[in-house]
Amino acid sequence: MAETWQKIRVLFLVVLPLAAVVAAIVLFWNQYVHAKDLLLLALFYVPTTLGVTIGYHRMLTHQGFESNRLVRLMFLILGCMACEGTPLDWAATHIKHHAHSDDDGDPHSPLHGFWHAHMGWLFSKKNFADAKTYAPHLLDDPVTMFVDKYSWVWFLLTVSLPFLLGGWTGLIWGAGVRIFLTTHVTWSVNSVCHTFGKREFETTDESRNEWIVGLLAFGEGWHNNHHAFPRNAFHGLRWWQVDFSGLLIRALERLGLIWNVQRVAEPMLESHKVNALKRFDAVKTIRAQLLDMLHHAQEEISRLRREYGKVPITPEEIDETVTACESALKRLEEIQKSVLAAHHVRKQKLDAYVREVQQMVGALKARVSPSRV
Ligand SMILES: [Zn+2]
Ligand SMILES: [Zn+2]
Repeated sequence: MAETWQKIRVLFLVVLPLAAVVAAIVLFWNQYVHAKDLLLLALFYVPTTLGVTIGYHRMLTHQGFESNRLVRLMFLILGCMACEGTPLDWAATHIKHHAHSDDDGDPHSPLHGFWHAHMGWLFSKKNFADAKTYAPHLLDDPVTMFVDKYSWVWFLLTVSLPFLLGGWTGLIWGAGVRIFLTTHVTWSVNSVCHTFGKREFETTDESRNEWIVGLLAFGEGWHNNHHAFPRNAFHGLRWWQVDFSGLLIRALERLGLIWNVQRVAEPMLESHKVNALKRFDAVKTIRAQLLDMLHHAQEEISRLRREYGKVPITPEEIDETVTACESALKRLEEIQKSVLAAHHVRKQKLDAYVREVQQMVGALKARVSPSRV
């Protein structure tokens, strides 16, 4: 119940600022806000958001299609104008997200806190991945390097163009409010779409399909589909899963401006479901065994700690072992918390925990010789 309330509370915190913006528009209509301002907002929101969804995400990071240099350049500049970081930083960090989704190395997993996943992670440089490690292939791409190097130019453009077109109110709506909306909508893919919504495909992370984000972020909200098939250029896999970016990709392909567009065929969807379910069942068994093992290890270590105090050894030895037992118990608690929080977890991670617990208990037992206890 407390968990449900927490989710409701967090959801309100995400939705209310957006609702406030809408309310401000309605209340101040024709007083401080004019149709021209909203037109500017849309004029910059749509192309820059597409710069992120199609350019940064589906094209640059996942190589969902190929294009000529001009189309690539245009999408990357638009992506940069969304003010979510340079192409190299964005792609490398996103590749890291897919490599460690909802695991310890994930830069923005809600398992480390909803706000951390939404925007808290941005405040720490260590959460940004290095392109040399995660996207070295992009360092040889002249278009990416050019857009990355002159990112300050695109930033100046994204702020000055609305001002030139609409004056001060143009700056507020065409730049300020628009950047606020674009960033929060795309950050919601990291926070909301790893917390709320439906899972059609079994994956080793917490990704979900959330239709509201699907609409606002031009198809990126079908995030569970995306984690199941990362290279697929179309995130909406059913006719009712609105994917504006996917529609535009299809149109650009028809026009011959992009090619080699990555798709998944219907039989692939079904075989993925069957295979992933089998894997999930196997992982579920290991997860239950690990939780059981953690419980027994906690009992065992508590017993060792108690019995150590009774054996005739030096007070230093007792202190040392009690401290070791306490830190082992703390670590077991951490592991337990992490396993309980993640339902869709990688088998390798569970196997590593099993080994760690076995070694931990073994090492503590070895300190206690059978003759002493
Ligand atoms: Zn994700
Ligand atoms: Zn992705």
